Amino acid sequence: MQFDPDHLLRMLNRGLNERTVEFSLRSAAQRGEIAIGTVDEFRDAAAKFQTCLVELVDEWIWSGLNPEEDLDYPRKRKLRQGSKAWNAQMRWLNSHSPRFTLTATGEPEYDFRLPPISHRRSSTPPGPTEVMQTRAIAEFVSLMQSPVKYNLAKCSRCERYHFRKKVREFYNGKSFCAECRSAASVEADRKKRREDKLTEAAKLWGKWDTLSAQTRSKYGTRENYLVERLGLTLTFISRNRSEIAQSPEGASHNA
Ligand SMILES: [Zn+2]
Repeated sequence: MQFDPDHLLRMLNRGLNERTVEFSLRSAAQRGEIAIGTVDEFRDAAAKFQTCLVELVDEWIWSGLNPEEDLDYPRKRKLRQGSKAWNAQMRWLNSHSPRFTLTATGEPEYDFRLPPISHRRSSTPPGPTEVMQTRAIAEFVSLMQSPVKYNLAKCSRCERYHFRKKVREFYNGKSFCAECRSAASVEADRKKRREDKLTEAAKLWGKWDTLSAQTRSKYGTRENYLVERLGLTLTFISRNRSEIAQSPEGASHNA
Protein backbone atom coordinates (compact mmCIF):
# COMPACT_ATOMS: atom_id res chain seq x y z
CA MET A 1 0.00 0.00 0.00
CA GLN A 2 1.24 3.46 -0.84
CA PHE A 3 1.79 6.21 1.66
CA ASP A 4 -1.43 8.16 2.06
CA PRO A 5 -0.92 11.76 3.24
CA ASP A 6 -4.59 12.24 4.14
CA HIS A 7 -4.54 9.13 6.27
CA LEU A 8 -1.49 10.44 8.13
CA LEU A 9 -3.21 13.80 8.72
CA ARG A 10 -6.28 12.08 10.13
CA MET A 11 -4.15 10.09 12.55
CA LEU A 12 -2.15 13.15 13.60
CA ASN A 13 -5.07 15.54 13.94
CA ARG A 14 -7.83 13.28 15.17
CA GLY A 15 -6.04 10.23 16.45
CA LEU A 16 -7.75 6.86 16.67
CA ASN A 17 -10.50 5.72 18.96
CA GLU A 18 -10.41 2.56 21.03
CA ARG A 19 -12.83 0.74 18.73
CA THR A 20 -10.63 1.33 15.69
CA VAL A 21 -7.64 0.02 17.62
CA GLU A 22 -9.55 -3.03 18.78
CA PHE A 23 -10.75 -3.71 15.26
CA SER A 24 -7.30 -3.33 13.75
CA LEU A 25 -5.77 -5.70 16.29
CA ARG A 26 -8.51 -8.29 16.32
CA SER A 27 -7.10 -10.74 13.80
CA ALA A 28 -3.57 -10.52 15.21
CA ALA A 29 -4.99 -11.20 18.65
CA GLN A 30 -6.86 -14.21 17.30
CA ARG A 31 -3.63 -15.54 15.85
CA GLY A 32 -2.06 -15.15 19.28
CA GLU A 33 0.49 -12.60 18.05
CA ILE A 34 -0.60 -10.02 20.59
CA ALA A 35 -2.19 -10.20 23.99
CA ILE A 36 -5.92 -9.56 23.92
CA GLY A 37 -6.66 -6.20 25.56
CA THR A 38 -9.45 -4.64 27.57
CA VAL A 39 -11.36 -1.52 26.52
CA ASP A 40 -9.14 0.57 28.79
CA GLU A 41 -6.05 -0.90 27.20
CA PHE A 42 -7.35 -0.13 23.72
CA ARG A 43 -8.07 3.44 24.81
CA ASP A 44 -4.60 3.77 26.27
CA ALA A 45 -3.12 2.24 23.12
CA ALA A 46 -5.00 4.75 20.93
CA ALA A 47 -3.76 7.69 23.03
CA LYS A 48 -0.15 6.47 23.08
CA PHE A 49 -0.27 5.88 19.34
CA GLN A 50 -1.14 9.51 18.69
CA THR A 51 1.29 10.90 21.28
CA CYS A 52 4.12 8.84 19.87
CA LEU A 53 3.36 9.78 16.24
CA VAL A 54 3.04 13.48 17.12
CA GLU A 55 6.31 13.43 19.02
CA LEU A 56 8.22 11.88 16.11
CA VAL A 57 6.63 14.13 13.51
CA ASP A 58 7.28 17.24 15.61
CA GLU A 59 10.95 16.34 15.91
CA TRP A 60 11.08 16.13 12.13
CA ILE A 61 9.22 19.44 11.56
CA TRP A 62 11.18 21.34 14.20
CA SER A 63 14.50 20.12 12.82
CA GLY A 64 14.09 22.71 10.03
CA LEU A 65 13.58 25.65 12.38
CA ASN A 66 16.32 28.19 12.78
CA PRO A 67 15.61 29.80 16.17
CA GLU A 68 18.13 32.62 15.75
CA GLU A 69 16.47 33.91 12.61
CA ASP A 70 13.03 32.67 13.70
CA LEU A 71 12.72 31.10 10.24
CA ASP A 72 11.56 27.68 9.14
CA TYR A 73 13.55 25.95 6.36
CA PRO A 74 11.49 22.83 5.52
CA ARG A 75 14.03 21.57 2.97
CA LYS A 76 16.79 21.67 5.56
CA ARG A 77 14.98 19.33 7.94
CA LYS A 78 17.37 16.69 9.14
CA LEU A 79 17.16 14.24 12.02
CA ARG A 80 20.06 14.25 14.40
CA GLN A 81 21.82 10.92 14.71
CA GLY A 82 20.89 9.36 18.05
CA SER A 83 17.79 11.50 18.51
CA LYS A 84 14.47 9.98 19.52
CA ALA A 85 13.08 9.86 15.98
CA TRP A 86 16.38 8.53 14.66
CA ASN A 87 16.54 5.73 17.22
CA ALA A 88 12.88 4.82 16.87
CA GLN A 89 13.29 4.32 13.13
CA MET A 90 16.52 2.42 13.62
CA ARG A 91 14.91 0.02 16.10
CA TRP A 92 11.94 -0.46 13.83
CA LEU A 93 14.04 -1.13 10.74
CA ASN A 94 16.19 -3.62 12.62
CA SER A 95 13.22 -5.73 13.57
CA HIS A 96 11.02 -5.28 10.50
CA SER A 97 12.64 -6.24 7.29
CA PRO A 98 10.73 -4.37 4.60
CA ARG A 99 8.13 -6.37 2.75
CA PHE A 100 7.38 -6.05 -0.91
CA THR A 101 4.01 -5.72 -2.43
CA LEU A 102 2.82 -5.15 -5.99
CA THR A 103 1.23 -1.91 -7.10
CA ALA A 104 -1.96 -1.88 -9.16
CA THR A 105 0.21 -1.80 -12.28
CA GLY A 106 2.38 -4.68 -11.15
CA GLU A 107 5.50 -2.89 -9.94
CA PRO A 108 7.12 -4.19 -6.79
CA GLU A 109 7.35 -1.62 -4.02
CA TYR A 110 8.30 -1.52 -0.38
CA ASP A 111 5.40 -1.80 1.99
CA PHE A 112 6.25 0.21 5.07
CA ARG A 113 2.69 0.91 5.95
CA LEU A 114 1.54 -2.35 7.46
CA PRO A 115 4.51 -4.17 8.88
CA PRO A 116 4.19 -7.64 10.33
CA ILE A 117 3.09 -7.06 13.89
CA SER A 118 5.82 -9.11 15.42
CA HIS A 119 8.85 -10.26 13.56
CA ARG A 120 9.57 -13.10 15.89
CA ARG A 121 6.98 -14.69 18.10
CA SER A 122 8.07 -13.91 21.60
CA SER A 123 7.04 -16.06 24.52
CA THR A 124 4.99 -13.19 25.98
CA PRO A 125 3.04 -11.49 23.22
CA PRO A 126 3.03 -7.67 23.37
CA GLY A 127 -0.09 -5.83 24.55
CA PRO A 128 -2.13 -3.33 22.51
CA THR A 129 -0.18 -0.27 23.73
CA GLU A 130 3.17 -1.68 22.75
CA VAL A 131 1.87 -2.78 19.37
CA MET A 132 0.29 0.60 18.65
CA GLN A 133 3.47 2.44 19.61
CA THR A 134 5.32 0.29 17.12
CA ARG A 135 2.67 1.11 14.52
CA ALA A 136 3.13 4.82 15.18
CA ILE A 137 6.82 4.39 14.44
CA ALA A 138 5.91 2.46 11.29
CA GLU A 139 3.74 5.37 10.15
CA PHE A 140 6.63 7.72 10.76
CA VAL A 141 9.03 5.48 8.80
CA SER A 142 6.50 5.53 6.02
CA LEU A 143 6.34 9.35 6.09
CA MET A 144 10.12 9.55 5.98
CA GLN A 145 10.06 7.41 2.82
CA SER A 146 7.86 9.94 1.08
CA PRO A 147 8.97 13.17 -0.61
CA VAL A 148 5.98 14.98 0.93
CA LYS A 149 7.76 14.88 4.29
CA TYR A 150 9.05 18.35 3.42
CA ASN A 151 5.53 19.64 2.81
CA LEU A 152 4.25 18.65 6.24
CA ALA A 153 3.66 21.64 8.52
CA LYS A 154 2.04 22.33 11.87
CA CYS A 155 -0.30 25.28 12.33
CA SER A 156 0.99 27.78 14.90
CA ARG A 157 -2.54 28.66 15.92
CA CYS A 158 -4.61 25.45 16.09
CA GLU A 159 -1.61 23.06 16.13
CA ARG A 160 -3.19 20.88 13.47
CA TYR A 161 -1.04 19.41 10.74
CA HIS A 162 -1.37 20.09 7.04
CA PHE A 163 0.57 19.60 3.83
CA ARG A 164 1.73 22.66 1.96
CA LYS A 165 1.07 22.39 -1.77
CA LYS A 166 4.44 23.95 -2.53
CA VAL A 167 7.47 24.25 -0.30
CA ARG A 168 9.18 27.63 -0.28
CA GLU A 169 12.82 27.96 0.71
CA PHE A 170 11.83 29.40 4.08
CA TYR A 171 8.89 30.66 6.09
CA ASN A 172 8.75 33.03 8.99
CA GLY A 173 8.47 31.18 12.28
CA LYS A 174 4.68 31.10 12.19
CA SER A 175 2.79 28.83 9.85
CA PHE A 176 -0.99 28.70 9.54
CA CYS A 177 -3.38 26.17 8.08
CA ALA A 178 -5.91 27.42 5.51
CA GLU A 179 -8.68 27.76 8.09
CA CYS A 180 -6.59 29.76 10.53
CA ARG A 181 -5.20 31.91 7.75
CA SER A 182 -8.68 33.00 6.74
CA ALA A 183 -9.76 33.34 10.39
CA ALA A 184 -6.71 35.51 11.01
CA SER A 185 -7.49 37.73 8.03
CA VAL A 186 -11.15 38.08 9.10
CA GLU A 187 -9.92 39.08 12.55
CA ALA A 188 -7.44 41.57 11.06
CA ASP A 189 -10.22 43.11 8.93
CA ARG A 190 -12.47 43.44 11.93
CA LYS A 191 -9.71 45.11 13.93
CA LYS A 192 -8.92 47.50 11.10
CA ARG A 193 -12.60 48.51 10.73
CA ARG A 194 -12.84 49.12 14.47
CA GLU A 195 -9.71 51.27 14.45
CA ASP A 196 -10.98 53.27 11.46
CA LYS A 197 -14.25 53.87 13.29
CA LEU A 198 -12.43 55.04 16.42
CA THR A 199 -10.24 57.43 14.42
CA GLU A 200 -13.26 58.93 12.71
CA ALA A 201 -15.11 59.19 16.01
CA ALA A 202 -12.16 60.90 17.72
CA LYS A 203 -11.95 63.51 14.95
CA LEU A 204 -15.60 64.44 15.31
CA TRP A 205 -15.41 64.29 19.09
CA GLY A 206 -12.87 67.13 18.99
CA LYS A 207 -14.70 68.95 16.23
CA TRP A 208 -17.78 69.27 18.45
CA ASP A 209 -16.08 72.07 20.43
CA THR A 210 -15.66 74.14 17.27
CA LEU A 211 -19.30 73.88 16.19
CA SER A 212 -21.69 76.81 16.38
CA ALA A 213 -24.29 76.88 19.12
CA GLN A 214 -26.96 76.48 16.46
CA THR A 215 -25.41 73.27 15.05
CA ARG A 216 -24.90 71.90 18.53
CA SER A 217 -28.49 72.43 19.46
CA LYS A 218 -29.49 70.63 16.28
CA TYR A 219 -27.65 67.48 17.45
CA GLY A 220 -28.31 67.95 21.16
CA THR A 221 -25.30 66.06 22.54
CA ARG A 222 -21.77 65.24 21.43
CA GLU A 223 -22.65 61.55 21.44
CA ASN A 224 -25.66 62.09 19.27
CA TYR A 225 -23.52 64.12 16.86
CA LEU A 226 -21.31 61.05 16.42
CA VAL A 227 -24.31 58.78 16.06
CA GLU A 228 -25.86 60.94 13.38
CA ARG A 229 -22.71 61.71 11.45
CA LEU A 230 -20.96 58.33 11.53
CA GLY A 231 -23.78 55.89 11.97
CA LEU A 232 -22.24 54.62 15.19
CA THR A 233 -24.32 53.25 18.02
CA LEU A 234 -24.47 54.83 21.47
CA THR A 235 -23.28 51.50 22.88
CA PHE A 236 -20.14 51.64 20.74
CA ILE A 237 -19.46 55.21 21.84
CA SER A 238 -20.02 54.60 25.53
CA ARG A 239 -17.96 51.42 25.44
CA ASN A 240 -15.03 53.20 23.77
CA ARG A 241 -15.60 56.63 25.28
CA SER A 242 -12.22 57.08 26.92
CA GLU A 243 -10.39 55.88 23.81
CA ILE A 244 -12.36 58.25 21.58
CA ALA A 245 -12.02 61.25 23.89
CA GLN A 246 -8.34 60.71 24.65
CA SER A 247 -6.95 59.82 21.24
CA PRO A 248 -4.74 62.54 19.70
CA GLU A 249 -7.43 63.61 17.20
CA GLY A 250 -9.93 64.15 20.01
CA ALA A 251 -7.57 65.51 22.65
CA SER A 252 -6.20 68.38 20.58
CA HIS A 253 -9.57 70.08 20.63
CA ASN A 254 -10.70 68.63 23.86
CA ALA A 255 -8.03 69.83 26.28
ZN1 LIG B 1 -4.80 26.25 12.11
